[in-house]
Amino acid sequence: MGIFKTMGLREIINASGKMTALGASAVSDEIADSLRKAAQDYVDIDELMEYTGKVIAESTGAEDGCPVVGAAAGIAIATAAVIAGENLSLIEKIPDTAGIRNEVIVQKGQLVHFGASIGQMIRIGGGKVIEVGQANKVEKEHIEQAVTEKTAALMYIKSHHAVQKGMQPLETMLDIAQRYQLPFIIDAAAEEDFQKYIRFGADIVIYSGGKALAGPTSGMICGKKQLMTACRKQYKGVGRPMKIGKEGMAGLITALKQYPFKSSNTEQQMERMTALCRKLEKIDGLRCSIKQDEAGREIYRAQIQVDENKTGFSAEKLLYLLESGNPAIYLRHHYVNVGILSVDPRPLLPGQEDSIAEAIINIISEGKKK
Ligand SMILES: *Cc1c(COP(=O)(O)O)cnc(C)c1O
Repeated sequence: MGIFKTMGLREIINASGKMTALGASAVSDEIADSLRKAAQDYVDIDELMEYTGKVIAESTGAEDGCPVVGAAAGIAIATAAVIAGENLSLIEKIPDTAGIRNEVIVQKGQLVHFGASIGQMIRIGGGKVIEVGQANKVEKEHIEQAVTEKTAALMYIKSHHAVQKGMQPLETMLDIAQRYQLPFIIDAAAEEDFQKYIRFGADIVIYSGGKALAGPTSGMICGKKQLMTACRKQYKGVGRPMKIGKEGMAGLITALKQYPFKSSNTEQQMERMTALCRKLEKIDGLRCSIKQDEAGREIYRAQIQVDENKTGFSAEKLLYLLESGNPAIYLRHHYVNVGILSVDPRPLLPGQEDSIAEAIINIISEGKKK
């Protein structure tokens, strides 16, 4: 029996993806083992932090790295690093940065809520958020005209949460950053290619350890050597209340050494989701198809279109009933307003797709009896 079930908490079937609110990832045995071993041992934390930085560098192709407790902490620490550098007096002042170079330029459609606000994470790191353009339209000029002698960095948020259309591409941001010799930071929290943005030329890239990496509660910053030294030094300041422990670092290292693990995964995802769709399509009013991730990642989800007139349930209602059941079933609901629910195969334990089909079919056929 799972540890949370023994506490009397509901069993969760997570088909919604790497959701922080559901515990992000369930780690492999090897990662779990390293968490336990680290918890039961001592180490010089600075040494471990530098070592972890080297492992991050190897995995990402960056010059160096800095472990963090999550990508949100990564945003705050990276911001603090570009503002305070390795200067201890400044590090101890953060987030108070009045009078010094502290502006971080972000396109308006990318200042999103990922569970908390990107802008707030920047402010915690001492950054003053300079949002440019409009929510659905940003011109190159908007970005360029925002650069002043107080600009500390340009930041790009690569995320399905962000507005995809009308924003300036990475290339434009990089070009402007390079022309004005400003650090270019990319928040790639949920991305699964850990080398792409470093190769692209970003100075700092931030990833979550609990999302694509399927690691423990953790995250990583990678990038230029001097900036990574500055990132690690922020643990003497604003980083302290968001410190990653020895367990998190050991787990992150093991997770990085196991990655990539996805090669045979795509076919398996498709097979499981196709089997689920076949079952659901027997129900009048449900249509089901396989859809690749909106952000183009190698994730193939079952997309269920719910016809309220035929099933007697709106997608919202169905979602609610599944979430409040026991086991509680969480589906992805980005498109629930247009009657679509999605099943993310990545976090599903073996056979759980069958439990999902069963629960949906039960709800609808019970409803019809009434
Ligand atoms: C999830 C996410 C974060 C936060 O990541 P954590 O590892 O949970 O701190 C930050 N930015 C984006 C775009 C995200 O999707």
